[in-house]
Amino acid sequence: PPETQPPETIVFRSKLPDIPIPHHLPLHTYCFEKLPELSEAPCIIDAATGKIYSFSETHLLCRRTAAGLSKLGIEKGDVIMVLLQNSPEFIFTFMGGSMLGAMTTAANPFCTPAEIYKQFKTSGAKVVITQSMYVDKLRAVNEGFPEIGDGLIVVTTDAPPADCISFSQVLDSDETAIPDVTIDPEDPVALPFSSGTTGLPKGVMLTHKSLVSSIAQQVDGENPNLYLKDDDVVLCVLPLFHIFALNSVLLCSLRAGAATMLMPKFEIATMLEGIQRHRVSVAAVVPPLVLALAKNPVVEKYDLTTVRIILSGAAPLGKELEEALRSRVPQAILGQGYGMTEAGPVLSMCPAFAKQPTAVKSGSCGTVVRNAELKVVDPETGFSLGRNQSGEICIRGPQIMKGYLNDVDATSKTIDVEGWLHTGDIGYVDDDDEVFIVDRVKELIKFKGFQVPPAELESLLISHPSIVDAAVVPQKDDAAGEVPVAFVVRAKDSDVSEEAIKEFIAKQVVFYKRVHKVYFIHAIPKSAAGKILRKELRAKLVAASQT
Ligand code: ATP
Ligand code: MG
Repeated sequence: PPETQPPETIVFRSKLPDIPIPHHLPLHTYCFEKLPELSEAPCIIDAATGKIYSFSETHLLCRRTAAGLSKLGIEKGDVIMVLLQNSPEFIFTFMGGSMLGAMTTAANPFCTPAEIYKQFKTSGAKVVITQSMYVDKLRAVNEGFPEIGDGLIVVTTDAPPADCISFSQVLDSDETAIPDVTIDPEDPVALPFSSGTTGLPKGVMLTHKSLVSSIAQQVDGENPNLYLKDDDVVLCVLPLFHIFALNSVLLCSLRAGAATMLMPKFEIATMLEGIQRHRVSVAAVVPPLVLALAKNPVVEKYDLTTVRIILSGAAPLGKELEEALRSRVPQAILGQGYGMTEAGPVLSMCPAFAKQPTAVKSGSCGTVVRNAELKVVDPETGFSLGRNQSGEICIRGPQIMKGYLNDVDATSKTIDVEGWLHTGDIGYVDDDDEVFIVDRVKELIKFKGFQVPPAELESLLISHPSIVDAAVVPQKDDAAGEVPVAFVVRAKDSDVSEEAIKEFIAKQVVFYKRVHKVYFIHAIPKSAAGKILRKELRAKLVAASQT
């Protein structure tokens, strides 16, 4: 009697065959496995100083950092907090921590003392590695931090303020003095926090096994999904405290033997200059950066012909913007990866980046990674859906998180008893096994019975020549429940009107997706990881309606 029985689970797999994954290895052993062959090859290019570290130098400095942290009392199971912009010391600390069997949690140094304290407290960090200018954030006694030098060890990468230790002192250690630790593949090594786009950031436990699996799914095997070569230079301008850059840029490059070019922050001209000078061949970006590359006139002044791959992730990238960038960097393959901190983070990757590439459609996030299963479920019934049907994306495999930090409840709500991680994202898989993300369940605007994905309207809006940036949020409406309204940043010298914009959208969409109001604004609020902070815009609407 099939009526009462849930339909069979329809599982989507990679187009590429599964590979052997050595996830019994500790992360640092796995990442530096090819050290003997690569020894003198460039590993880190620090664009801020011009200094280049070879693989053997990098490995040595990671080991010295491990030994130095051990002298400071850091042991297996301890947590190290990193509060740094992209810098070599970030890498030495993260890999050194792995060698000790410790865990690293990294935060945005621009966070407020209260935000930093929350992550510090949730993760139970024993030591903070930072820069002198952020130390005051840890001194804010009211925030509850222990006394520096007495209960809290603070290490700075520049000249240390009172009671702090300098990173050079940590490095001044005997690399052979690393304690002998046994690392279990299920031990956490990274405690990244989710971006806090939809609520408060959530601490996530990623184990040695999860990260080794995720990296392998991207760059290992005879036909790697993301083919990084040992002569590649990979742009690392996205922050390493976010899992996208940490995993898909840094760790994947280490494993593949490519050089990572570190930039401490995003500034368009400096970035373009760095790409040109160091002949960047692979660029990992987020949609706001794609927007800048596609629309900023300064781009034409630089030579970007060395770039062969542009990988965008972390937020929706519409096909209009994808095509605009493609026309500016025509020799590069442009594609997307889809990730989520909890998923290790990569769920799907563009197969046009593979060693034996296959074409993908604009707007697609590629195919599910190898050695993993993806399904799409009806958010109401939980039943499995087939091709071209939108539903919640779920993923299963050795790469997903062990769980949320200190939150068994949230973990069991996200990973079900069968091991499926529920992403909260709505998407579908098409006839060619390509994954398309529509939007987050939480962001869908409900116009009467119809669902309007803001990402789709944003993509159309920014394809307008007079619009520099845009975001769409729901506004309460008596008749429809919710209606989509847009915040728009006009191009310099443009006086395009609200009516013209509404008309531009209305011509391209079904009636219920029409934009009901346009608010002009100077900039769209975005997080460091490149996500639109719609909660801030929704708050603006509420504030406006109350005045
Ligand atoms: P929080 O969970 O704290 O609210 P967050 O979900 O933004 O924040 P991340 O783990 O950094 O934190 O981001 C994962 C989310 O980013 C995914 O669930 C998805 O909504 C979005 N995302 C990532 N890559 C893509 C992509 N290529 N296209 C569309 N959305 C993407
Ligand atoms: Mg999330």
